[in-house]
Amino acid sequence: MPAPAWLPVREELRDAVPYGAPQLEASVRLDTNENPYGPSPAMAADVAQTVARVARDLNRYPDREARALREDLAVHLSADTGCPVSAEQVWAANGSNEVMLQLMQAFGGPGRAAVSFAPTYSMYPQYARDSCTRWVEGRRADDFALDLAAALALVRTEQPALVVLTSPNNPTGTVLPAEHLRAVLDVAPGIVVVDEAYAEFRRASTPSAVSLLSEHRRLVVTRTMSKAFALAGGRLGYLAADPAVVEAVRVVRLPYHLSAVTQEVARVALRHAPELLGRVDELRETRDDLVSALRALGVQVPDSDANFVLFGRFADRHAVWQALLDAGVLVRETGPPGWLRVCVGTPDETTAFLTALEKVLTP
Ligand code: PMP
Repeated sequence: MPAPAWLPVREELRDAVPYGAPQLEASVRLDTNENPYGPSPAMAADVAQTVARVARDLNRYPDREARALREDLAVHLSADTGCPVSAEQVWAANGSNEVMLQLMQAFGGPGRAAVSFAPTYSMYPQYARDSCTRWVEGRRADDFALDLAAALALVRTEQPALVVLTSPNNPTGTVLPAEHLRAVLDVAPGIVVVDEAYAEFRRASTPSAVSLLSEHRRLVVTRTMSKAFALAGGRLGYLAADPAVVEAVRVVRLPYHLSAVTQEVARVALRHAPELLGRVDELRETRDDLVSALRALGVQVPDSDANFVLFGRFADRHAVWQALLDAGVLVRETGPPGWLRVCVGTPDETTAFLTALEKVLTP
């Protein structure tokens, strides 16, 4: 619904609708790339105890700089990537969505451009709009990899303040090879953000962009605890970059943006990292089986390094989406025309999806 004529909303927001997948009821929900496994009772009890402790001080503002949490995130990221990362290089906010918005606020803005390559995460243009940054959308190649020559040409022409690359990319699952990232870093005049929301699900041979941080001061890597860490409800995203980038982001953040509860719950989750990340290997295997099973059904699937896969192509993807929903399985109608995206669930959920899809595809 467009805003009413009397409402003096910004013109570019007049016809805009809030972002979000439809939050529909379904017995098998595979639409928002969540981790299907919740925390163990031991971790839930640890969260409850911690929140009870924090509750006694809720009359006080939290640590504005989230120092203890950033220390813990730095330890985790160093262990995950094998590259030393310090707390001064880490910044945290309410989900990597907020981190990305803060980056656009700090480095984009009027008279500046941000470039990305579609199909990719559909929130980026909205962060650009909200920060009055000009949005420039390049295209990926037909196999959804970065079309490197075209990408470099676009960066040279547009001279963007930010380039946003996503690896693994949502919704295609495609990773960005290190040599492509190096090539973009060599020509980009501004900040290059690699959104690694799904990095923990990548195949073993794919390095993290964190390994290039020491060579490139304008490189920023964003991560989230929403996916592999199974903490989507906790809302915690973070970045790793040169300390000067962190300082610039601190200028635009709201005071006390990260609640005391969020900070402490995230620290509990980091203490339980082995448990929370323990299912990642299993999810990776389920993903690879899912890709093979879909291909065996004659469905196209690009290789995926994430906890979801794109599948298609359908003459009427909405009809397939609806038929799956009617069978109790919710997937996401997103990505290029003709494709749908399904996220990796438990083995039972994944089987339920495949069984439903097979029925839908059988004339
Ligand atoms: N980046 C990508 C590529 C995503 O797919 C998502 C969530 N769907 C996010 C960032 C944001 O995740 P969060 O705000 O939960 O950290």
